[in-house]
Amino acid sequence: MKPGDTIKLNILNTAPDGRGIGKIDHFVIFVIGACEGDLVLAKILTVHKTYATAAAVQVLAPSPFRQESFCRASSACGGCPLSHIQYEKQLAIKKQTVTDALARIGGFDLQTVEISDALGMDRPFCYRNKMVFPVGQAGGKAVGGFYAPKSHDIVPLDSCLAGEEAAMQALSCVVQFLNDECIAPFHEAKKCGTVRRVFVRTGFHTKALMVVISSFTERIRHLDRLVSALRETEFAGYCLKSVVLNVNQKINNLVLGDKNITLWGSDTIEDELMGLIFSISPHSFFQVNPVQTQVLYQTAMSLAELDGTKTVLDVYCGIGTISLCAAKLAKRVIGVEIVKEAVLDAGVNAERNNIKNAEFYCGAAEQVVPDLIGRDIRPDVVFLDPPRKGSDEKTLSAILSARPERIVYVSCNPATLARDARYLADGGYRLTRAVPVDMFPHTAHVECVALLNK
Ligand code: SAH
Repeated sequence: MKPGDTIKLNILNTAPDGRGIGKIDHFVIFVIGACEGDLVLAKILTVHKTYATAAAVQVLAPSPFRQESFCRASSACGGCPLSHIQYEKQLAIKKQTVTDALARIGGFDLQTVEISDALGMDRPFCYRNKMVFPVGQAGGKAVGGFYAPKSHDIVPLDSCLAGEEAAMQALSCVVQFLNDECIAPFHEAKKCGTVRRVFVRTGFHTKALMVVISSFTERIRHLDRLVSALRETEFAGYCLKSVVLNVNQKINNLVLGDKNITLWGSDTIEDELMGLIFSISPHSFFQVNPVQTQVLYQTAMSLAELDGTKTVLDVYCGIGTISLCAAKLAKRVIGVEIVKEAVLDAGVNAERNNIKNAEFYCGAAEQVVPDLIGRDIRPDVVFLDPPRKGSDEKTLSAILSARPERIVYVSCNPATLARDARYLADGGYRLTRAVPVDMFPHTAHVECVALLNK
């Protein structure tokens, strides 16, 4: 087998990243664009010692789980790698990913863990409240859209079913402004030009819209004309509340630079979550799928069984969303977060919602959590919501030493959840529940809430 060969392959399974898995003898081949149950003609891309990668070039016999992708750009864009798989099957794949990780990486006996079906969306479209569109040049013109898979080539798009139409309208408005005014967008290779990205946030409940124009230069000619054009646009379902210029003069892949200049309207927009109001600035981390965030947090709260008397520790608390939801049901809540701005937002959000029993600490969990527990803070319930790389032994062992009644682990990566849950299980906790929640339909991302009892 060598790159370029085409082979017929039955797709037996789905990998955690959404690729189909086929086998020749025992040799595994990961196939992009294939669906479990397909017979495909696959073109080999790379060959390694223990596996190969391939792309499905023709479906010879379609799987019963296959569907026509709902997006014209699906093969070029790569944002929704499961869009050719029926939604019910996507949910089953996500449950399987969690199950496999807990068994293989965590070594858990699945007889003792109740793993729920993945909680999906009734309407798994237009679910994102945040869209980031790269802007660049193609054929002498400004274009905006998405990066093609594993590249920085921009795929121009005029619609995207993951986001709101209003976000697309904001992008078109900026691209048209650049073309009308003959202003060069950022050129990645030449490291010159202006606009690099259009970043749009929408408030699901408040219907507020924020447009952030991320630029390499602080000055853009006739920027007032762009602001007027945005203000004159009738955004579908949303009302423009904020236009911000973000300056990013560094050569990096960060979505935003450090400096924000509000061009029009307010510096932040607000949205509601679980009956609380949150103020969101361009840099704030705010969960991306507002409908499913509610499902995720309700699941986390119900597993936490708060009764008004408990002390709660919320590690990796971001802008305090879980902390503030828990505060209404707890005696005292302590949030820990490494990003200073997020901790400031958390304090503002507590005040905004008249919550007085929540306090927030800024610092690395691995330092702050052992320190808090060393100062005799004894949480009854601990929430953990770490980034993809999971938690760490210092944080987890400090939590173990405090012996909370229950640990509710909100995870965006089943592999690190399984690893950390094993560490906690070896320290005297029992993994009893895992509830996958589909926060990102049509992508391979799997979010999961797990419960560990003392
Ligand atoms: N619970 C929040 C945020 C979860 S995202 C919510 O649901 O909105 C994970 C958070 O962990 C991010 O805000 C990130 O800044 C923070 N983080 C990452 N590494 C950290 C560390 N070592 N210590 C504390 N917080 C960390």
